[in-house]
Amino acid sequence: MTREILIATHNQHKKEEIQQILGENFKVTSLTDYDLHEEIVEDGTTFHENALIKAKYCFEKTGKPSLGDDSGLVVEALDGRPGIYSARYAGNHDFAKNMAKVLEEMKNEENRKAYFVTVMCLVDESGERYFEGRVYGNLTREIRGEKGFGYDPIFIPEDYSITFAEMKAEDKNAISHRKEAIEKFLNFLKV
Ligand code: IMP
Repeated sequence: MTREILIATHNQHKKEEIQQILGENFKVTSLTDYDLHEEIVEDGTTFHENALIKAKYCFEKTGKPSLGDDSGLVVEALDGRPGIYSARYAGNHDFAKNMAKVLEEMKNEENRKAYFVTVMCLVDESGERYFEGRVYGNLTREIRGEKGFGYDPIFIPEDYSITFAEMKAEDKNAISHRKEAIEKFLNFLKV
């Protein structure tokens, strides 16, 4: 019997990526499949809260096991910013502006430590469960590379000398925060 998992996204790419990872025993659906187009207000104060808000919305609307996720960049010297505001730190989904703001704030800072985090939340009839992935590294002092998205051009993962934006997508995806969270989710489903 296939199990349905509803992903709190309209992003077809995200849906297909998760479908591919979960395999044919699962049927991955999205907000688009249920014609749910109202904006989900992400007014949580943590990644966990925002992931829960998205998953809960889907579960309450459909009764299907639902997965919400929230990600961002956490910079030690900036007291955790941009954090949950990563997507709109300087301009809404304006990656160049957001990176410029982080680099400016970090101009005189020697401590370049940062990490990316993804929190996924599964909500179903038995309650809620969280799966978290992190990748640690350091911030550059300038933009480097053109691949990826978001803050990839200013982030060098630990044990590497190139940024996420200079790496092949499959190399980034093998060590990313998102990959670790999905893997934990998958292991949970297999139990
Ligand atoms: P979301 O919650 O997955 O939509 O991520 C929120 C924001 O965090 C994105 O708009 C990016 O700015 C940033 N972010 C999340 N994951 C990554 C990543 O893998 N690389 C670069 N930036 C990321």
